[in-house]
Amino acid sequence: MSEPRARIVIIGGGPGGYEAALVAAQLGARVTVVDRDGLGGACVLTDCVPSKTLIATSGMMAALDEAAALGIRPSASGGGTALATVDAPRLYARVRALARAQSEDVTARLAAEGIEVVSGTGRLADRNGRLAGPLTVEAGDVLLSADAVLVATGAQPRLLPGAEPDGERILTFRQLYDLSELPPELIVVGSGVTGAEFAGAYQALGSQVTLVSSRDRVLPQEDADAATVVEDVFRRRGMTVLSRSRAAAVKRDGDGVAVALEDGRTVLGSHCLLAVGMVPNTDGLGVEEAGITLDGRGFIPVDRVSRTHAPGVYAAGDCTGVQMLASVAAMQGRIAMWHALGEAVRPLNLSHVAATVFTEPEIAMVGVTQRAVTSGEVDAVVGKLPLATNARAKMQGIRDGFVKLFASPRSGRVLGGVVVAPRASELILGVSLAVEQNLSVDQIAHTFAVYPSLSGSITEAARRLMQPQEN
Ligand SMILES: Cc1cc2nc3c(=O)[nH]c(=O)nc-3n(C[C@H](O)[C@H](O)[C@H](O)COP(=O)(O)OP(=O)(O)OC[C@H]3O[C@@H](n4cnc5c(N)ncnc54)[C@H](O)[C@@H]3O)c2cc1C
Repeated sequence: MSEPRARIVIIGGGPGGYEAALVAAQLGARVTVVDRDGLGGACVLTDCVPSKTLIATSGMMAALDEAAALGIRPSASGGGTALATVDAPRLYARVRALARAQSEDVTARLAAEGIEVVSGTGRLADRNGRLAGPLTVEAGDVLLSADAVLVATGAQPRLLPGAEPDGERILTFRQLYDLSELPPELIVVGSGVTGAEFAGAYQALGSQVTLVSSRDRVLPQEDADAATVVEDVFRRRGMTVLSRSRAAAVKRDGDGVAVALEDGRTVLGSHCLLAVGMVPNTDGLGVEEAGITLDGRGFIPVDRVSRTHAPGVYAAGDCTGVQMLASVAAMQGRIAMWHALGEAVRPLNLSHVAATVFTEPEIAMVGVTQRAVTSGEVDAVVGKLPLATNARAKMQGIRDGFVKLFASPRSGRVLGGVVVAPRASELILGVSLAVEQNLSVDQIAHTFAVYPSLSGSITEAARRLMQPQEN
């Protein structure tokens, strides 16, 4: 007789949940995903996919802004001086349609793998209550028993007391795509990754943007050299960046908004976008009743194979607060299933995660950071090359950006890197490969790059870090 199939129940259908479901199904388990808002999760429906779709349009607008320098001018019949303006209703309709289509793709993929999907809000049933015994998930009237449960419920925008969104003028980034126009004067509160991405995008789309940053510079958590490049570009493109300015309250002011700063100043605009972080969706999930103590900020603590404190209960993605990226959520979910279903598994290694800030230019990074090198925590030599010296960059009119590599002074092994460039998200793969595969700067330097190409700056930076061989 064959073994009974393992039963897996997953709460949440974002990348943490649906990627796990695919792995579990591949391994022969009976899988049910409980999701309340649509497969693909917030990643596909409201956050990552919509924002990157918007940025595809803003990137095109930013390129057009530089077009005159490349010998392009508006055609005589076009009228006006701008090469193009944005059709906001069409843009937002495209963003919403693309997100829906992506969610439908995920739904079809799960159906094709025989994965059951239950629409509704899931929670762990109380083991000490009426369903003592095996793990059980409740989704409305449906009760699902499981050998292992994965919680992948994601997160939602953090709100500031005194700055309640109204969905019209005071907005979270999930409400932007319901607007009927581009905000003429947009105040973005928060200069982390989300705030910086939207501020840059809307400035390029044609809004006049004011970015309110509580810190000395934008993107305070990112590589300081990279953040400085992005902030300089923001200012050059006409954005007002208010550093060391903390928002105390946001109120409607007639047809616009007034943002009161803690130092007594007031900033006026047509709309305000709040981008001040995320809070986990862990309320009412029954996790504490299952024996899991949430951390001080409400996240579910997990180890490197995604186990929680409760036997048989795993967690993945934004609800764990490990690193809020779709790629990390997906990997945590897959690792959970490999572990739960008895496969050999490599624990999550965050030091090899490649990440990008999708501003224009983009910042992509992997491996060790400049902060760790400067503080002495990591012993590394640093090779930095401005893109302005790259032939392809000159041809394309690219003035801003650089390639930076970190390497071990003894072995020459590549430990990490930062690329600031248009499409840096694509260029970083070479550095990621080097970090993951323990390649040395010599090996990168001996690798052919196309001439002319931006990736040539990666091999050139590696050449500069090569040590002369002792005879
Ligand atoms: C504006 C923005 C842009 C981003 N851009 C990027 C990017 O470019 N690249 C990148 O890697 N990451 C990006 N991220 C981060 C990325 O979106 C998240 O890391 C990712 O969505 C996390 O996936 P998840 O599966 O943990 O959660 P989610 O995608 O949030 O999915 C969780 C799902 O669970 C559902 N759910 C919640 N509670 C329950 C319940 N009790 N019962 C049933 N269902 C429930 C939710 O409705 C949702 O469908 C971005 C985030 C934001 C905010």
